[in-house]
Amino acid sequence: MEASYNILIIGGGIVGSSIAMALAEAGAKDIAVVDSDLSGTWGSSERNAGGVRATWSQPVNIALSKDAIAFYEQHAAEVGFHQQGYLWLYDEAGWRRGKAHRKTQAALGGVLEPLFPQEITKRFPFLDRLEGVYRAGFSPKDGLINPNLLKSYYRRRASAAGVTWIDRHAVEKITVKEKSVRRLHLREISSEDALRDFLITQKLAAESPVSTVEVKTLVNAAGAWAPRLSSLYGQKTPSTALRRQVSILHAQDLDLSAYGMIVDNSGLYFHHEGGNILAGYALPAEPPGYRLDYDRDSFFIQEIWPRLAKRSSNFDRLKPIGGWAGLYAVSPDSSAIIGQVDGFLNLYEAHAFSGHGVMQSYAVGRGLAELILEGRYRSIDLSMLSGHRFKTGKTVSETMLI
Ligand SMILES: Cc1cc2nc3c(=O)[nH]c(=O)nc-3n(C[C@H](O)[C@H](O)[C@H](O)COP(=O)(O)OP(=O)(O)OC[C@H]3O[C@@H](n4cnc5c(N)ncnc54)[C@H](O)[C@@H]3O)c2cc1C
Repeated sequence: MEASYNILIIGGGIVGSSIAMALAEAGAKDIAVVDSDLSGTWGSSERNAGGVRATWSQPVNIALSKDAIAFYEQHAAEVGFHQQGYLWLYDEAGWRRGKAHRKTQAALGGVLEPLFPQEITKRFPFLDRLEGVYRAGFSPKDGLINPNLLKSYYRRRASAAGVTWIDRHAVEKITVKEKSVRRLHLREISSEDALRDFLITQKLAAESPVSTVEVKTLVNAAGAWAPRLSSLYGQKTPSTALRRQVSILHAQDLDLSAYGMIVDNSGLYFHHEGGNILAGYALPAEPPGYRLDYDRDSFFIQEIWPRLAKRSSNFDRLKPIGGWAGLYAVSPDSSAIIGQVDGFLNLYEAHAFSGHGVMQSYAVGRGLAELILEGRYRSIDLSMLSGHRFKTGKTVSETMLI
């Protein structure tokens, strides 16, 4: 197969799909999205917690999420957005450290209600163990989204505006000439084993068919795999892939469906998930790498259960019923890398979301489409998120991380 496209997006996860929708609806023609697996089995957009919040420390992250939330509100039923808030539990030191963030959020129109421990138990009666909790902050505009519905929604609109989808093909070679990407080699992915092997080791079966694609503009939206793609065009992006795990649990006689996300001061987060509870925790010593295996009982018993039981007697008895691992694409300052790639005339990138790609996807897609089609950001200035910042040292250090 020899094909040519005006714009090719590598990665059809939630970010690539949003970019495709924004470009096509802004009038760009001849756009394709290529993905080694459009069903996204191992992609981060399938393996996240669905949290959406504008409670961040950096103004640009607040602005991106706030704008995206306004969009999710408008399409709440179609994208499964439930604005039930985020409850943040703090110890005294954490509450004091967060003062500056709360000021920044308030200045940008954010709402965060401070709660004393007795108010927390009144509003969240299942939280009957609050040892060490000094205050909580409740942000009612935040909430939970269905990432699958959101991705399908972007794709539906992108398809209606003419986007082509190339499934089960991995980009394995990129030809660059005179500061421009010209041609890509795509290799077919022939089986589920080949897909998993490729995403973990980047090995592709030499006997699988290869095709070439000519492009005028290329977008690297390959999520945690973006650094591998950037090495194909001779760049070293500073982001890394990091495994994150979540457990699914059942608590007898406890229904959390009236509540949104709860973030404990230990770093544990949890929320209802179809009659069960989804709980996640980032292992501080997790080494970077493409690990997609879930530690099962040891993760639940050592990391999840003790932290949950510390907050509620309802969690004394919990039944672990599953879980999974997925990848965070983490940048050195925990803000995304978005913009034109340094030294290239026709190459753009949007990745390294460091755990906030679902919630920011709408505003990022729109922003990158503006940059590609108009040469400037019109809605929100995202220029400070360009990868160039790691050369100048003008980083955008995000500290409100889970
Ligand atoms: C456990 C966990 C919890 C999370 N919780 C949240 C949350 O609550 N809220 C939130 O906003 N975010 C959360 N995130 C982060 C969020 O999931 C990501 O930021 C987001 O999904 C990134 O989307 P993406 O489209 O960039 O990447 P992906 O969905 O990973 O898509 C990248 C795609 O690129 C494809 N690809 C890779 N290499 C190639 C190649 N060579 N050729 C062709 N295709 C290729 C892959 O197949 C993949 O489909 C969480 C992540 C994890 C793992």
